[in-house]
Amino acid sequence: MDTISTAFCQQLRVARRAKGLTQAELAQRVGCQQSAVSMMEAGRTTALAHETLARIAAELGVTWAATEHAAAPAAARPAGQAHCPDPECPSNVPFVVNGALVFWPRPQSTSVGSHCAWCGEVLARICPACGMPASAGACCRACGAPYVPGPAMRDTDVETWAAGRRRQLADLRALLVETAPATGA
Ligand SMILES: [Zn+2]
Ligand SMILES: [Zn+2]
Repeated sequence: MDTISTAFCQQLRVARRAKGLTQAELAQRVGCQQSAVSMMEAGRTTALAHETLARIAAELGVTWAATEHAAAPAAARPAGQAHCPDPECPSNVPFVVNGALVFWPRPQSTSVGSHCAWCGEVLARICPACGMPASAGACCRACGAPYVPGPAMRDTDVETWAAGRRRQLADLRALLVETAPATGA
């Protein structure tokens, strides 16, 4: 009997948000109740029939693979590098490239869960603009959109801001490394 992993449910949630759909809109598209989508995203893996989940995955452009089962070995990860989508998160380091501020997401291991090790946000694995699996680096290889949106800044010297923020993050990370529990199962 197949079991759906909670990680897959979270991946669907991230993909839905990336597409700017509400739970109700998604439910309407695939023909189910909004409450069922809500329960599924909260980790109730039995909230929806497999065929409905498959429709949701197709609607959101998420790969529905046999490897998405709870019993699957840790090596069977979905495509796309996991990163935190929150620009405020210490895992995202700002740099200035050609005068524009970009955040360089620190790749995260998801073997211990699907949440950011630094801030607890649900990790993203896809480009928020086009939905392609995320790769290493700050921007999508398919469409060029940044994986992590930078804050809008006017009348601010972004170079100075980014340098200051990097110093701040270095201090913060040093602190987190000292207090973070060891990762790995
Ligand atoms: Zn984070
Ligand atoms: Zn893209």
